[in-house]
Amino acid sequence: MDPFEHASIPTLVYLALSEDPAWGGALALIIGATFPDLDAFTREHRSYLHSLLVAIPVFAPAYISGNHYALLFSLGWLSHLFLDFFTGVIPPVYPLSRQGWGVTITARGGPSGTGFEVHLLERYPDPRHDYELNIGGSTALALLTLIALVIRLH
Ligand SMILES: [Zn+2]
Repeated sequence: MDPFEHASIPTLVYLALSEDPAWGGALALIIGATFPDLDAFTREHRSYLHSLLVAIPVFAPAYISGNHYALLFSLGWLSHLFLDFFTGVIPPVYPLSRQGWGVTITARGGPSGTGFEVHLLERYPDPRHDYELNIGGSTALALLTLIALVIRLH
């Protein structure tokens, strides 16, 4: 999943669910939602910042303190892990273990029938490598999110 998708999806949820959304809150959420991919600069793309051992200790004090921006930042971070869980694997207890888990869901339809297949993935995250992202579809999603932000927050 690319940064536009990671930023757009929780932002649209924030705009839909918040009674009083604001630019500052949206910015904190977007920064938190894209922050974990700084792991791309470490040995493995999904490592420290994709671990619940790191994310939960950030979320818990933000939740307890009630600081609006810290909470939105950490919720953005958790949304990143949630979305990555469905597009590969996340290593929940990294660096104690590199083992990652994720889910793939495949929908089938055609003359032979329809159905869904759900598979639990269990493997090590991909090692760091150069990425080539096709961001055409996610650019459209980012533009729609920007339009929703302008309409909802003007
Ligand atoms: Zn990620």
